[in-house]
Amino acid sequence: MRTIGLLGGMSWESTVPYYREINRVVAERLGGFHSARIVMWSVDFHDLEAFASAGDWADAGRILADRARRIEAAGADFLVLCTNTMHRVAPDIEAAIDIPLLHIADAVAAAVLEDGIRTVGLLGTRFTMDGPFYRERLSFRHGLEVLVPPEDQRTTVDEVIFSELVHGEISEASRLRLKNVISDLAGRGAEGVILGCTEIGLLVRPEDAAIPVFDSAVIHARQAAELALAPALSG
Ligand code: GLU
Repeated sequence: MRTIGLLGGMSWESTVPYYREINRVVAERLGGFHSARIVMWSVDFHDLEAFASAGDWADAGRILADRARRIEAAGADFLVLCTNTMHRVAPDIEAAIDIPLLHIADAVAAAVLEDGIRTVGLLGTRFTMDGPFYRERLSFRHGLEVLVPPEDQRTTVDEVIFSELVHGEISEASRLRLKNVISDLAGRGAEGVILGCTEIGLLVRPEDAAIPVFDSAVIHARQAAELALAPALSG
């Protein structure tokens, strides 16, 4: 079994499901007392959130690249960055390490395509919904048509993430607001919706949507567990 490197804490509320899901898959697949081999670095989210809010992606990239190097030095075979937003600096991280980074957008796109879906809604932080780094990866690399909510709803989703979910606050009123955002996306033709923020799955459940829901945290964690268990490549 390979050792998984988790770069988490963004926020810690959403790193918990990663740890749980990875171990759940490994225990289910191997049985007995088996659990995953994991090296984790959990950052202080205060620092990273401040960099992102200030648009200081260079420093965010520098810090995360440094933490990724430490994870590699501790013995991880590949790296999982437990946040969608910080994949904005994935190139900085990849340049700093020799182990592969399991990109969250690739994991999610694979799950969406496997379900035969081509047009998909995207919920996430304003950085993820507004900027090209995530949407373009889904569309250019994976051929998906990506719909994002209109400006006012993007603000709502971002506020729910940063004012509530990263603090572990679950509100019925916010769940209803996100349900409405998803149903509007479905009305515009989305055949499924990506929860492209690792905290949204703490609030929105599959039964809250009439279309399939793709929870980036769970999908990413499962892919990490599968890769840890996959046989070594030969040749
Ligand atoms: N966990 C969130 C995400 O998946 C947002 C927090 C952050 O990293 O800024 O995008």
